[in-house]
Formats: sequence, C-alpha cells, structure tokens
Amino acid sequence: IDADMHCEVLVLGSGPGGYTAAFRAADLGKKVVMIERYENIGGVCLNVGCIPSKALLHMSVVLNETREMGAHGITFAEPEIDTNKMRAYKDSVIGKLTGGLAGLAKARKVEVVQGYGKFSSSHTVTVDMADGSTKTIAFENAIIAAGSRVIKLPFIPHDDPRVMDSTDALELEEVPNRMLVIGGGIIGLEMAQVYDSLGANITVVELGDTIIPGADKDITKPLLKQIQKKYENIYLNSKVTNVEAKEDGLEVTFEGKKCPEKDTFDRILVAVGRAPNGKLIDAEKAGVMVNDWGFIEVDERQKTNVDHIYAIGDIVGQPMLAHKAVHEGKVAAEVINGMPSAFTPMGIPSVAYTDPEVAWAGKTEEQLKAEGIEYEKGAFPWAASGRSLSLGRDEGMTKALFCAETHRLLGCGIVGPNAGELVAEAMLAIEMGADMQDIGLTIHPHPTLSETICFAAEMAEGTITDLM
Ligand code: FAD
Repeated sequence: IDADMHCEVLVLGSGPGGYTAAFRAADLGKKVVMIERYENIGGVCLNVGCIPSKALLHMSVVLNETREMGAHGITFAEPEIDTNKMRAYKDSVIGKLTGGLAGLAKARKVEVVQGYGKFSSSHTVTVDMADGSTKTIAFENAIIAAGSRVIKLPFIPHDDPRVMDSTDALELEEVPNRMLVIGGGIIGLEMAQVYDSLGANITVVELGDTIIPGADKDITKPLLKQIQKKYENIYLNSKVTNVEAKEDGLEVTFEGKKCPEKDTFDRILVAVGRAPNGKLIDAEKAGVMVNDWGFIEVDERQKTNVDHIYAIGDIVGQPMLAHKAVHEGKVAAEVINGMPSAFTPMGIPSVAYTDPEVAWAGKTEEQLKAEGIEYEKGAFPWAASGRSLSLGRDEGMTKALFCAETHRLLGCGIVGPNAGELVAEAMLAIEMGADMQDIGLTIHPHPTLSETICFAAEMAEGTITDLM
C-alpha cells in the first residue's frame, strides 16, 4: 500500500484504552503507531477526567474535614483559597502522568503521531496533522480507541462562558455564588462537591427519582442525605427545559414536582452523560459498523465486524470507565498477537468519589431482582464499625449479595469514606468465586473499614446477628 508510514498495529486515540493497547502490542514485539489529536497523550482520563477530578476532590475532602474538626475540638481558621494554585496543583499531577506516559511510549518505540485520524480504507488511516499537512498511515491491524465526548443539550446556550461542561468545570475559572448542576450522576456530583467546598451554593437537578442511577438506592441514600443537608436544592424527577442567557445570570426553566418554574444561576454545569465518537472517524470507509448511538459493537475478543480491526473503551459501550478501557486494550493487543485472550469479567466496579464515596461491584440488588436470581444479603451499618466511628462518620454501609444456592458473592455495594478502595476486595472475591464463608473466615485487620466486608458476609451467613 502506498502510504507515508506503515505499521503492524495502529491505535486511534491515546486514552487509557489506547495507550494500554499500544504499550502491550509494543511489548509483544509489534511495530505500533498511536494517533492522538491533542499534544498530550492520556485521553480524557488523564487530561480532563479521572485524574484532575480526583486531584480537586482530594482538596475538597481536606477542606470539608478541616471544617468538621471543630466538633472534635480542633478548630481551624477559615481556609484561604487560591484557585490559581489549586489549578496549578491539578495541572502538575496531570503533567507528571502525561509526561510519564510519553516516556513509556518512547521507551517502547511506540510512534505517537499528533493529528486527527480518520479511516480512508480498510487498511489506511489519514491524519490531518497539526501543521495542516496530511499523512496516510497503512496498518495490518487497527485498534479504535477514540473514546467519547460530552453530550450537549439543544436548549442550552453552550457558547455562553457561564455554561460549563466537566472540562470547563475542572478549570476552576471562578467560584460562582449560585451554581446549577444538570445531572445527578457521578461526574455531576463529583464536580458539585468540589464547588460546594469552595463556597458555591449548589442546586442539582436530576431526571430520575434518585441520584447515581445504576447504583442501588440504599447505597446512594446516605450520600443523598449528606448533600441534601449541604446543598441549596436537589430536585429529583425534574428536568431543565430551557436556559436563557441574561446579563445578570442564566435563567433556567424547570419542569417537575418540587422545583420552581424558573430560577436564575450564575453558572451551570451540564453533566448529562457522554456520547461515543464512533461517527466521527469515517469508520464506514473501513467497513466497520457503527450503531445509531455511535457505539462500535465488538465481540469478547474486542473484534469489530472487520476481522483485523478492533475497538476498545468508551467507544464500545457502557460503562464508560477507564479501568474497563485498560483491560479491553490489553485483550485487543494480545488477540492481535495470536494469544487466546478475551474480555469476560464477572463485573466492572463503579465508584463515585464523592463524600461519602459510593462504590459497587458485580450485580446490584436491583439487577438480581430483575434477573430473578435468588440471593441472600448481609448489610453491615458502619455505625457499628469502630474505625468508621473513630473517623467521626456513621452513615456508611456495606452490603454483600450472595447466591442463595452456592453462597458465592455475586455483588457488593458500599457507601462511606474510602468505599472505592474497599470495593476492590469484593471484586476480587467475585472473580475468585469466594463464598460467604471464605470472606467471613478471612481475617481482616482490626479496626479497619475493610472489616465491614467480612461482617457483611458473616451477617449473610447468620454468624453475626446482633451488632454491638
Ligand atoms: P478517551 O480517554 O476518551 O481517549 C480517547 C482519545 O482519543 C482522546 O485523547 C481523543 O483526543 C482521541 N481521539 C478521538 N478521536 C480521535 C481521532 N479521530 N484522531 C485522533 N485522536 C482522537 N473513569 C473512571 O474509571 N474513573 C473516574 O474516576 C472517572 N472520572 C471521570 C471524570 C470526568 C470529569 C470524566 C469526563 C470522565 C471520567 N471517567 C472516569 C471516564 C474516563 O475518563 C473514560 O472512561 C476513559 O477516559 C475512556 O478511555 P478511552 O481510552 O476509551 O478514551
């Protein structure tokens, strides 16, 4: 094929899926080219997603904790907040990681091409380079890892600088007085928390009847209670139908039971989900099928309908999470190398890094009910955990769901500080087929929050009945 470059594996996109696939393929001896439109590799996750949000959330938790310490006898002066320095700190974390990635790419001789790539045939991608030129790259195999983008709503003036998406919100341009967050999902609630701790008055509006749809209601409830106390308003079962940009603010029209018809905010964060980039890469020129939503369908070896073209990460479907992309990326690279790999996890854990954190792995209780699976449940309230109480927290809960027949762990939901770290143990137990006795008989260190998983298993087993 006549082209400017040739490679064995072409990776389109450098997010967690793309760079993992590229590095694995290179480690397996393949000649790899990775295309990324932005200067920094790392994708949404490193540049405008997981990492910057967690850097800001760390500061938000510290701020909240210093404020709560008064009740325990330690009173701090009201903190001085310098959002320029906060932004610089967040950017330094991103810089360390993206710089590290660039080094890892170089060490593996993964060639990174900066530009916007689109398929021009089943064996070529044409890249619009940053300098205005174009480059055609021929490949033996391709891995599509072009990710997703924020969804915009037609009735919102997205061009107005007071209307933010998650990327804008991470920039901390200003702490508004009154801020509306449209969407009570993970991203909306994480950013709401950051702005709340910086002093903004937050209103959240959510279409569903609860926050974080997808998680069981009993594990999101403690978070809901917490933010109902802190935020100005939380409107559930409600929606925004119009936003008008006025000089003195953004006039929002609501529809729902408990919300006003109109209200005015200084800033709005739109966090209503993300759309896959499947329709933006001329996939049809390679014969790759893209569904109406823009997702690319793949089998468990990450293959698209075209034998030598694979897809991974946000572009192949829900849940849109970095750790899913990473594992899929490894599978694609290994299958290209002729290895018998497949993406067949027993679950993909989800975490909201709010305060308290909400995390779940495997099946939710709702899913078990909907699928008609008989289960046994152990739910341990953290009000009976010495470690949780010593942290000054009693709202947490660990719920473990076991198969009624085999007693194996099927799912786990946790709410409380560090729930995201804790849920990894449950995910491992699910993958290993651990049953309630395995977990209950495993000695967990005392006093830790991890004990709550052991206690939940013992409660399901009936070996703990009363709590303290
Ligand atoms: P992406 O990370 O989207 O990367 C795709 C890359 O491809 C991008 O760099 C893009 O520029 C590039 N690209 C796209 N099209 C082209 C093209 N045609 N040519 C060249 N380059 C192209 N997930 C978690 O697991 N945990 C979290 O805590 C978390 N927090 C998040 C917080 C926020 C605010 C957001 C927005 C997302 C968060 N996510 C989180 C989701 C996570 O970022 C994504 O699931 C993950 O980045 C998906 O990885 P990916 O490899 O599929 O694609």
